[in-house]
Amino acid sequence: MLFKKKETPKGPYDVIVIGSGLAGLTLAKKLGMNGRKVLLLESHNKLGGFATWFRRKQGEHIFDVSLHGFPIGMKKTCRKYWTKEIADQIKQVNKVRFINPQYNLETDFTKEDYTRILVEHFKVPRDTVESFFSYLANMNFYDDDGMTNGELFKKFFGDRNDVTRFLLEPIVYANGSTLEDPAISYGIVFSNFMSKGVYIYRGGTDQMITQMRDNLIETGVDIKLHTFVEEILIEGNQTRGVKLSDGTVIEAHAVASNSNLHNTIFKMVGEDKWNKEYIEKARQVRLNTSSCQVFMGIAPGETLPDVGELLFYSEDETFSTDALLSPKVGSQTFSVYHPNTRPHLSDRYAVVSSSNARYEDWANLTDAEYKERKEYNIERALSCLDKVIPGTRKKVNYVDASTPLTVEKYTHHKKGASFGTKFEGLPISMNMHKEIDGLFHAGSVGIIMSGWLGAANYGVIQSHEVDNYLDRLEGHKEISTQI
Ligand SMILES: Cc1cc2nc3c(=O)[nH]c(=O)nc-3n(C[C@H](O)[C@H](O)[C@H](O)COP(=O)(O)OP(=O)(O)OC[C@H]3O[C@@H](n4cnc5c(N)ncnc54)[C@H](O)[C@@H]3O)c2cc1C
Repeated sequence: MLFKKKETPKGPYDVIVIGSGLAGLTLAKKLGMNGRKVLLLESHNKLGGFATWFRRKQGEHIFDVSLHGFPIGMKKTCRKYWTKEIADQIKQVNKVRFINPQYNLETDFTKEDYTRILVEHFKVPRDTVESFFSYLANMNFYDDDGMTNGELFKKFFGDRNDVTRFLLEPIVYANGSTLEDPAISYGIVFSNFMSKGVYIYRGGTDQMITQMRDNLIETGVDIKLHTFVEEILIEGNQTRGVKLSDGTVIEAHAVASNSNLHNTIFKMVGEDKWNKEYIEKARQVRLNTSSCQVFMGIAPGETLPDVGELLFYSEDETFSTDALLSPKVGSQTFSVYHPNTRPHLSDRYAVVSSSNARYEDWANLTDAEYKERKEYNIERALSCLDKVIPGTRKKVNYVDASTPLTVEKYTHHKKGASFGTKFEGLPISMNMHKEIDGLFHAGSVGIIMSGWLGAANYGVIQSHEVDNYLDRLEGHKEISTQI
């Protein structure tokens, strides 16, 4: 059931899931499918976490925050753990474009097309391209040699900055990877995309999340929105439930947190509850960077030409991690939403510009400086978009911008991290239940487990752990009642 604002769910639950990002949602769904008594708590007024949307101008515009593209694997995940209807709405993005001082190219973002472009346009020998792809295909966690992305590109393409840009820039936007991050995390995500191209949910994030919400309720999962979990209750070494911000306690045999890894460990549980070695390693986990976005609504009746749905646009002469994160916004991605994004609503065009950003560049500004920076981002987005699709600027009748502070405010991610933590966060997240009985984490960590597909799949992986734990708990109870 969906609890009303003033209703209080009554425990004990088998599991309480804190946060309804795609990892939390999918974990809750899988456990609900297994017959577990599940309560999903979300602080925001809607489900989805980053998979979210908002309306402006009395609903004239609907903007999607993170519906830009994900690998085909999302279709299988949705069919298996959600519904056929949701999976059927996942369709390929028709064109991906790159416009920067080094090249102007269009691709369907598949291995075949990338190979063609690398050979014909960048003049890389075919053998080199083939060995690069086969190297990626053979990468796995167990044989990981610690190579960085920078080293990977150097190994195959020497100092070809243009080739590095072509291979890495889209993945930087997909999960915040940098040249210094482990190549394994790049290799897995890039190969996922290369298998069949980039996909999107046609119908819009609002439709997908509404279907997920209804499906969760049908499965028997309890949901409560507007509910901030302040504390995860631990007694001895055993998870007992959660305490909400109004002081209400809800008991549960297990808790799975979809909240930021740092917040879960340091804020909701507290440093004193962990063993020293684990907490020290957790302290070392670096957060990923954040994002800025500019949302541009096209006036009713106006149209945009078909220039592709995803445009990686940059005015930076060469590619570098620093330039990508710079507040100068030399580089941004335009997602162009045509009426086919929401086929059930006619005549809807919108463009969203996304750029990677550092929280530190936004955190300590005066109100006036903050406003000025936002205006700068808006101006940058409008003027660059006008170069890509001349005449668009005058068709825009609504514009707004978000910053790392907006991300932090709405998702509670420390420092507005858009893609969770760096690679070292993965074992900390995965092994949480080995430190405290009945406490699990699922959500963007380690680059690989972030993005729509990574988060949803991680929710499934962790649901197995929760299920095994609950089985063991029931087994113990059975044995002790028999005795
Ligand atoms: C600008 C931007 C663009 C992106 N573009 C893409 C893209 O094109 N393709 C792609 O695949 N991915 C994209 N992503 C990333 C992707 O959206 C995320 O990686 C993924 O959705 C994260 O899911 P999650 O399960 O980790 O949880 P999140 O989405 O982070 O959700 C966590 C939820 O937990 C809730 N919560 C936290 N703490 C508490 C608490 N104490 N009590 C109650 N609730 C709490 C939050 O309110 C939130 O709803 C983008 C992200 C951003 C920011």
